[in-house]
Amino acid sequence: MTQVAAVIRADNAAEAERQSRMALETGADLVELRLDYVRDLGSSTIRRLANGVGTRAIATFRSPGQGGVSVAHRPQRTTILQEICHLRFAYVDLELETDREALESLGRLASSHRTKVIVSHHFAQAAEVYRVSEALDSCAAQGEVAKVAVPVTEFEDAIQLVDLVRSRNGRPHRFVLIGMGIGGIVTRALADSLGQEIQYASWGLSAAPGQLSLRTATRLRGREPMILGLIGHPVEHSISSAMHEAALAALGLPAAYLPFDIPPDALDGFLLAAERLRIRGFNVTSPHKEAVARFVDELDGDAERLGVVNTVVLGDGWTTGHNTDVYGFRISLRSLGVRVGDRNALVVGAGGAAKAVVDVLLREGAHVQVTNRTAARAEVLADSFDDRIEVLPPGVLDRNGPWDLLVNATPVGTKGLPDGLPVPEAVIGKAGFIYDLVYNPLVTPLLQAAKRLNRPGSSGLEMLLHQGAKAFELWTGQPAPFDAMQRAAKEALR
Ligand code: NAP
Repeated sequence: MTQVAAVIRADNAAEAERQSRMALETGADLVELRLDYVRDLGSSTIRRLANGVGTRAIATFRSPGQGGVSVAHRPQRTTILQEICHLRFAYVDLELETDREALESLGRLASSHRTKVIVSHHFAQAAEVYRVSEALDSCAAQGEVAKVAVPVTEFEDAIQLVDLVRSRNGRPHRFVLIGMGIGGIVTRALADSLGQEIQYASWGLSAAPGQLSLRTATRLRGREPMILGLIGHPVEHSISSAMHEAALAALGLPAAYLPFDIPPDALDGFLLAAERLRIRGFNVTSPHKEAVARFVDELDGDAERLGVVNTVVLGDGWTTGHNTDVYGFRISLRSLGVRVGDRNALVVGAGGAAKAVVDVLLREGAHVQVTNRTAARAEVLADSFDDRIEVLPPGVLDRNGPWDLLVNATPVGTKGLPDGLPVPEAVIGKAGFIYDLVYNPLVTPLLQAAKRLNRPGSSGLEMLLHQGAKAFELWTGQPAPFDAMQRAAKEALR
């Protein structure tokens, strides 16, 4: 079974020991003591750490050339490594290149104290898979555990690393192979099923990009992992990870929800590899919602009607596309107490979200008008429904209305985008209830304007939670822990 090591980056030995004890009590099998971070490192502090937590620690004194921290006025690296190898640690990490000259003698010394030797190599840049394989061989020839880490930016490269490990199965060597960065996160999530010796997990606030949290890593330990996630381009601003991770943790499921940044030209490759990577399901965001609808084997009712997919379920070589935005919007109207039957609604936007909103409004019996920056796209949306939908160019909005409900289904108002309103304030004043699908920030410029005009309204958080809960149920077959998801989403949005 893969051992979970919490990575401790404390700047003094006493703090490193304190944090190590906490991480071990929290469920880590091991801690990795990043000694290159410890400023008061010397004979007495190394001895103190060895006596305190050594039998459950990996002693790593990472060199600056291999991604470590450089601290001036240190004794020589080899002297420090000799001190470490003279003591009892569970593992010591020696570097293939930096420690080349001393590897053999240090290794002998460490083994005489029953410390296992990890020989590691960290590529500074992405590397061809054959070079990664050679580095693993070189490390394995010198140590009991071979560790290679390589930056991964493209999902395709992560797949190659997974395939490399699988092709080496059956070899006797113990190893750790890490695709560094968010792009390589799947190599970490599959650590156990790939037979990796150690899963390096983040502890506290200091996490390397792509590193799983200790909580997620211990949940996956020794179990067949279920990989869930989100595909889009970009994906790093999504709060879905926080929401679904909280749900998985609340139910203790052996699953991880990972962000996959997939550019349009890599979508094909992702879908082909998904099953091989044990991906059981994923959410879909911009710009893939319509493309994925064409790729999957089957569409459920809502997704088929709209040709838009935001959730995919995989199983037994079969993919099913769903549109849980439809469900999410419908349920959110109920929970917000907004009645739309026989009422007038204005939908701003003509993308995938607008389609889901219009679909729900029509089915609930509303009279729907749509406006969009690009009028032609609004016409296409209107034509895709059997019911009559009036398209209003933005310039005539002030001569129309009033509306019982105004829904913003554009990203206007989202954090990080230029400030602004999706429609002029005079138009907002003609609406009864203002529903902004944007949820980040929770109080958008549109909602601020609604408040100024004394109009009730809501952000898109409610819809986000309900569409997420539905997706969770489709993947896991279990009722979603809604409160845990809500808490995590609000926390992520603070
Ligand atoms: P999409 O398919 O890319 O459509 C975006 C729509 O917004 C298009 O109609 C686009 O107009 C319009 N738009 C984009 N930038 C604009 C700007 N600066 N000014 C005016 N109009 C602009 O995206 P989507 O999937 O429909 O998502 C739309 C929004 O809804 C996003 O902010 C998304 O986060 C949010 N959403 C929220 C939930 C939730 O659960 N709360 C669920 C789904 C989506 P053009 O046609 O002219 O490009």
